Amino acid sequence: MPIRQPVTPLLILLLLFGLSACRPTPTTGPADAAPPLQVVVTTSIVGDVVQRIGGDAIDVQVLMPAGVDPHSFEPTPRQVAAMSDADLIFSHGLNLEETMAPLLHSMAAEQKRIVAVAAGVQIIAVADAPDGIDPHTWMDPNNVLVWVDAITQALSEADPAHASYFEGNAEAYRQQLHQLDAWIRQQVATIPPARRQIVTDHLIFSYFARRYGFEQIGAIMPATSSLAGSSAQALSQLEDIIRSSGVPSIFVGNTVNPDVAQRVAQDTGVRLIKIYTGSLSPADGPAATYLDYMRYDTRQIVQGLR
Ligand SMILES: [Zn+2]
Repeated sequence: MPIRQPVTPLLILLLLFGLSACRPTPTTGPADAAPPLQVVVTTSIVGDVVQRIGGDAIDVQVLMPAGVDPHSFEPTPRQVAAMSDADLIFSHGLNLEETMAPLLHSMAAEQKRIVAVAAGVQIIAVADAPDGIDPHTWMDPNNVLVWVDAITQALSEADPAHASYFEGNAEAYRQQLHQLDAWIRQQVATIPPARRQIVTDHLIFSYFARRYGFEQIGAIMPATSSLAGSSAQALSQLEDIIRSSGVPSIFVGNTVNPDVAQRVAQDTGVRLIKIYTGSLSPADGPAATYLDYMRYDTRQIVQGLR
């Protein structure tokens, strides 16, 4: 039988010292650091990238739920209050958040710190767009590298004590973006070049097309905003394009009503394939992060066109 010895105060002290020496130091920065930055983000895609870089050092609130169209979203009064209280707001910018633009302008005028993550991206002009540009910059992961720089800089300015933590997270995420880009190129290489033609609900694929060698040959709403609508004449032109090009599938996003696209698919005898466009999927869906979103859409496109 083991001999039971009384636990001495000295032993207790030793144990306490030993335990505190073994306790992991916080990875987010100094133990006496200020409470986490309160960060508000407009879209779920931008929100995911901000969260990757901010990690445990920030509290993120994303305004737009999964499945919501970023072009037409309007925040609730409670969300507007959260924006007023936030340390930092991230939007996509380039007028993606069309209906939120007046609110974002007025908050910026009141000295609220608002960072448009895509402001530094080399934009693609599209003749039909209201501002002449395609705002869907994340369809090329190389553009998200530009977002990462803007996000890391803004977080580090707002919370300099965590600057090296943010930069470490950013560097790990940059590697994942490079891997994603290489993976997409491998996948796309399995589609014969002549079949790399895309028809979508609205014109969101300019950056993807430039990077991976596709042609965006038409859209249900021939504009870079889902607010544009369509006309009978435009739809009949689109059906002609689909028939003459021989595309086997059209791709419709999660943030628009698919009814018109369904009718076009029926009229022309092509498949209608679901992709994610303006938002991520819910957390339990197949596109809950930006990386998964791009993998999901790439697989759907490859299967639809090969
Ligand atoms: Zn859009």
